[in-house]
Amino acid sequence: MGDFFERIVDVQVTGDEAGPLAERMVDWMVSEGLITRETSGDGVYSLTVDQGHVPGPDWVRAVADASDSDRRPGPVAVVVGRDHHVGGQGADDAEYAICPRCRTKTVIIEYPEEFEADEEVWRPFRDGIAAWKETGEGSAPCSACGASVPVTEWQWEPNFAVGALAFDFWGWPPLSAGFCAQFSRRLGHRIVGHMGKS
Ligand SMILES: [Zn+2]
Repeated sequence: MGDFFERIVDVQVTGDEAGPLAERMVDWMVSEGLITRETSGDGVYSLTVDQGHVPGPDWVRAVADASDSDRRPGPVAVVVGRDHHVGGQGADDAEYAICPRCRTKTVIIEYPEEFEADEEVWRPFRDGIAAWKETGEGSAPCSACGASVPVTEWQWEPNFAVGALAFDFWGWPPLSAGFCAQFSRRLGHRIVGHMGKS
C-alpha cells in the first residue's frame, strides 16, 4: 500500500491565488479532523513535494466506505504551482481534448492503434501548456473552429488536468462524492479527480 493515490485538482485557481488557498484548505481539513499539521514523507510520490499531512482522527469522514478504517491511510500532499497532472499509469500526454467553443474533440493519442501522442497534433497543446506554466497564460488553437482556447479551458480527457493546486491523497480509500462536492465548494472552483498509481 501507499503507492495508490487519489488526487483533487483545482482547475480554475490562478498561480497567485493557489498558495493562500492551499493554506485555507489545510486549515479547514485540520479543523475537520481529516488531516493534522504533522507532515511525513512516508509513501508520498507527488510531483514537486515529498511531504504530506498525516491523517487526522476523523479521516474516515472523507471516504465513501470506511469498513476498512483500521487501516490508516497515508499523508495528503499539497502541490502548489502551475502544472499538468496525469492519473493512472498511462502516457504523460492527454489522449484527447474537447474545444469548449465548438465541442469538437481533438484526438491526440489514437488508442488502440497508437500508444503515443501524434506529435503534430500534440505540439500546439504542449507548447500552450509550457507557456501557461511559465507565465500563467497559454493557449492552443482549435483545428475545427479556429478559436485560440486557453489551456485551462480545454476540456481534457478524465486522466489529464492542468491546474495550479492539487491535493494528493496517498493510500486513501475512495473519497466520498459528498466530500468531493464539499471540497469543490470550499475551493470555490471546479475540480477534476484522478485515481492512479505512482
Ligand atoms: Zn473549436
